[in-house]
Amino acid sequence: MNTFGYAAYGPDSPLAPYTFERRELRPDDVALEILYCGVCHSDLHTARNDWGWSYYPIVPGHEIVGRVIEVGSEVTRYRAGDHVAVGCMVDSCQECDQCQKGEEQLCREGNVQTYGGHDRITGEPTQGGYSKHIVVREAFCLRMPEGLDLSKAAPLLCAGITTYSPLRTWGVGPGSRVGVIGLGGLGHMAVKLAVGLGADVTVLSRSSNKEADALALGADRLLLSSDPEAMGKAASGFDLIIDTVPVKHGLDPYLPLLDVDGTLVIVGQVGPMDEVSTVPLLLGRRRVAGSPIGGIRETQELLDFCAKKNILPDCEMIRMDQINEAFERMEKADVRYRFVIDMASLSSEEA
Ligand code: NAP
Ligand code: ZN
Repeated sequence: MNTFGYAAYGPDSPLAPYTFERRELRPDDVALEILYCGVCHSDLHTARNDWGWSYYPIVPGHEIVGRVIEVGSEVTRYRAGDHVAVGCMVDSCQECDQCQKGEEQLCREGNVQTYGGHDRITGEPTQGGYSKHIVVREAFCLRMPEGLDLSKAAPLLCAGITTYSPLRTWGVGPGSRVGVIGLGGLGHMAVKLAVGLGADVTVLSRSSNKEADALALGADRLLLSSDPEAMGKAASGFDLIIDTVPVKHGLDPYLPLLDVDGTLVIVGQVGPMDEVSTVPLLLGRRRVAGSPIGGIRETQELLDFCAKKNILPDCEMIRMDQINEAFERMEKADVRYRFVIDMASLSSEEA
């Protein structure tokens, strides 16, 4: 199937139109027309090759909402016309203990990422959702629940599940004290979801500019991470802190905020961090952990939870040809709080 989208052609060049092929449907494949695609900071990291594993051209985008246009002969759960979603993974072995548990993100053979991965059968590089169509294995397709606004739901597929999964892993519920470092795409979803689960929520931000937003998103307060006195007063006050900062940084200011047995879970920076003092870790029996996206079962649970609780990301809709400007603004943390591309703005003449 011929399709078109926007690709990065190199780490230093802007994204530009790109025409490419999607595979012919296998028996267990679903083909979608993409309606909306969220813009994740990982898209920017990948376009710029910040992590060193990008290939070019590469089509980013792993927050995908679309409509089924065709299904393979063995597909049972979807048919043409259904509204569905695709997140950060498009395949895994489906056989190992982790896949059997529905934790495909932890597949022993490694999951296949929506972009930046290689097809398990042909070895071809995968291409993401900044495009008109995608072909994906049925097992990696999510059902959009009735009543969830399609134009706003896309960021749930990465920003949503990446923050929902640690909230569930660490058993957040009423009475939990949750901190969120960085109020961006992931951060604002962490706030909404933790509030939805009944937690007491604090945003830790570099400036107080986002205080009104933090409160409007449902947080109980904003703690200025650059204010040592306020940070000192907040010591031992958190059960779980979710760190979404997308660059190398230090954890020393944050670790004393955890209560005994509290956990700081990193979902942001991929790569080295500043040196960490073990003193607050040992003295307070505190933990540092990491967490990657979430499994398909848990992603479906999240979509259903958001539909039931009416939790939606705060989105700024853009046209496909505004993507380079959106990347620049994201780098300056000038997005409230997720860009979503309206794929109707992508025309074939452009490609
Ligand atoms: P984003 O929308 O750009 O938000 C990041 C936030 O971090 C900013 O809004 C800002 O909040 C804070 N920040 C930015 N630059 C900073 C700096 N130099 N120092 C301190 N704080 C800074 O990004 P995102 O889409 O939420 O993604 C966040 C990170 O998660 C990225 O690295 C992304 O690749 C990663 N990610 C990981 C997974 C996973 O599976 N674990 C999944 C998706 C994304 P304030 O202005 O409030 O300080
Ligand atoms: Zn993402």
